[in-house]
Amino acid sequence: MTAEPPIRLFVAPVTPLQQNCTVVWCTKTHKAAVIDPGGDIKPVLAEIQRRGLTIEKIWVTHGHADHAGGTQALHEATGAPIEGPHADDRFWIERIPEDAKRWGIYDARSFEPTRWLTHGDTVTLGETEWQVIHCPGHTPGHVIFYHPESQFAQVGDILFRGSIGRTDFPRGNHTDLINAITTRLWPLGDVQFVCGHGPMSSFAAERAHNPFVGDRVIAQSEPNRSGPG
Ligand SMILES: [Zn+2]
Ligand SMILES: [Zn+2]
Repeated sequence: MTAEPPIRLFVAPVTPLQQNCTVVWCTKTHKAAVIDPGGDIKPVLAEIQRRGLTIEKIWVTHGHADHAGGTQALHEATGAPIEGPHADDRFWIERIPEDAKRWGIYDARSFEPTRWLTHGDTVTLGETEWQVIHCPGHTPGHVIFYHPESQFAQVGDILFRGSIGRTDFPRGNHTDLINAITTRLWPLGDVQFVCGHGPMSSFAAERAHNPFVGDRVIAQSEPNRSGPG
């Protein structure tokens, strides 16, 4: 008999931007967190109910409308606390309604997190404990949710299969993003991840093949450290 893993998940692409709203749950308690409820809340809620789960938390990686536009509606529907993102994304959360209109997302609203998160925080879900890792660059307040016991993370728009997040938005920073990935994510080992858009991947696969942050690319872009000085 194989042991039940401590967490399970399903992914529901939402909004015209096909953002990966991710529902994770503690298999012992059936308590669930909805990560990045960008919109289209009703079908996600129906699936949660069909699976017999209770929503305990709403987790937000960053303040972009496609990730956070349905947060307030879900909070009002469930009463679950909103944890994240980092307070540096406050300006993004405030502009959700106008951004959403431009991106074709309906009924997106601003919100006030129950708890802002910062690097090194832990958040709980049922009997599981998750680490919060602050990864600025795509947005200044972007966080990721990492479950060490199962080597799983939801990384939002930091890292994708074969790509990395855009940094051409206000207060985006390419160097910060590369540093966050290589100094805060890679040391975690081979982690399976759901990203904000597109298919799942793993840190090992991205270190081997990613054209932006693969090990060979990073080694070539770093100054020669073996030289004098
Ligand atoms: Zn984003
Ligand atoms: Zn996104």
